[in-house]
Amino acid sequence: MMLLTERDRELIARAQEAIRLNYDEKTQRHTVGAALRCKSGEIYVGVNVYSLHGACAEQVAIGAAVTHGERDFETIVAVRGRRGEEIIPPCGNCRQILRDYMPDCDVILSTDEGNFKVRASDLLPFSHQMED
Ligand SMILES: [Zn+2]
Repeated sequence: MMLLTERDRELIARAQEAIRLNYDEKTQRHTVGAALRCKSGEIYVGVNVYSLHGACAEQVAIGAAVTHGERDFETIVAVRGRRGEEIIPPCGNCRQILRDYMPDCDVILSTDEGNFKVRASDLLPFSHQMED
């Protein structure tokens, strides 16, 4: 586990801004924001696209980064709520995506002991391995 830096707090703020600007009071379709910092220094944000098989905010942020040519990722975080007040861990599907795309990326998590980072690959032990 790694402690958060000022850059990590900036990333959290970007995820909070993404959901604060897009929070869907009426349908609750957009309730989670995510921010992904790439090794280039760029930050990409996303909000969840809710449906039966909708996309998580992390997936939208990853898709935006990949669309812009990014392939090297540093840190990702997701937050939930009108102001993104709650840092939430990635779901099982996102953990698989993180493992496949960015096993060395750090993931910001929150526990009763505070906020910290772990490696994406550490979030999904004994995982399915895609064939090369
Ligand atoms: Zn997810």
